[in-house]
Amino acid sequence: MMFSHSRLKTYENCARKFAFQYIEKPDIERRDSVEAFMGTAAHNALEHLYQMVMMERVPKWEEIRDFYDDFWVKNWNDNILIVNKSLTGDDYRNVGRRCLQDYFVAHFPFSEGRVLGLEERIVVDLDGSGEYKLQGFIDRLQLADDGVTEIHDYKTSKRLPSQDEINRERQLALYQIGIEERWPDTTSVRLIWHYMRSNRKLISMRTRESLDDLRKETINLIDQIGYATERHDFAPHESMLCDWCEFYELCPAKRHQVSTSVLSKEQFDADDGVRLVDEFIAAKQRADDAKARQDEARERIVEFAQQQDLTRIYGHGWSINVTRRKELSVPPSKSPERLNLEAIVKASGKWDDVSDLSRFKLPKALQTDLFDTHTRERIASLLTESERITVSTKKSVREFDEEPDVGG
Ligand code: SF4
Repeated sequence: MMFSHSRLKTYENCARKFAFQYIEKPDIERRDSVEAFMGTAAHNALEHLYQMVMMERVPKWEEIRDFYDDFWVKNWNDNILIVNKSLTGDDYRNVGRRCLQDYFVAHFPFSEGRVLGLEERIVVDLDGSGEYKLQGFIDRLQLADDGVTEIHDYKTSKRLPSQDEINRERQLALYQIGIEERWPDTTSVRLIWHYMRSNRKLISMRTRESLDDLRKETINLIDQIGYATERHDFAPHESMLCDWCEFYELCPAKRHQVSTSVLSKEQFDADDGVRLVDEFIAAKQRADDAKARQDEARERIVEFAQQQDLTRIYGHGWSINVTRRKELSVPPSKSPERLNLEAIVKASGKWDDVSDLSRFKLPKALQTDLFDTHTRERIASLLTESERITVSTKKSVREFDEEPDVGG
């Protein structure tokens, strides 16, 4: 299978969707989301714009706007999915047009650097053996005025990622690997994302080490996909992306919801799945109630034992043992007190003697002369005393618990 960044991303987002889309390919009517449609329309308009630039022509805004509108009108259809029902296709069309206009104004007259390619197909051979191949299309490949090769990508998504996320982004870095494989004399590459909705340009440059790490991580991910494919192990991962998923009605996480959403109340009540869920929830509720009653009875037993100064209390056929033990506890791991305690014990050279601060060994050690007085006091100040109450049951049959012999 030839991979691409979007295939990898699909797998990472939801393995079940990956299986639908790339392996099982069910025969369903495919629907573009309005966001994808808007992205395609804006990408096409920018490709058109830079085609003119490559022909030494500076385009006018009206030409680009008309190209975009033309594409929109010719390709729009009612099957395009708009998840946000408060918006219309025209709202998205206006957003896309505004993105383009902002971009146009910010970059006019498009004279920076030299365009080397548009929608340039790039193949990446991750380990040089041909076994781990990826392909992608670079929106615009450009040679900047400072001699750096630039990989430009246009985004019409709403969210603007942080610089940290951009520095870890995979897609353009993979393209950089492909560019360097194709032109080994490439000395420097700049990765540039145009977030058009925010009219922001984000830039990242990668080190050799980070690209090597990326190769390894991507090979691992492809292996993981291969392993999942062998076992056909593609679990659904529900997220907010489900609302945009074309396979929603086929998905094992959604199919029952879809099929029961059209049932009448009587049909819904009689559905096998509904009944099993109801049964399970009722049983769980009973178990939770029983647990709450048990906890309450335990508290009352503990209180009774304390008031009466008893450790064992008898009932019919059973007795309950209540023990109380005072103990010293070490502070929770990673807390400042715990780190302080570790430092004190390590500095005393007795770390091994108290088994990495075992809650049994350390308090015991305080009662010996393992530590000098000063260290002992410092350690003791970091331990807290708590009471441990144990309640256990035992079968304790009394004489009158058995059937009395009334025979004559
Ligand atoms: S509906 Fe959600 S969980 Fe199901 S395949 Fe699509 S993305 Fe995955």
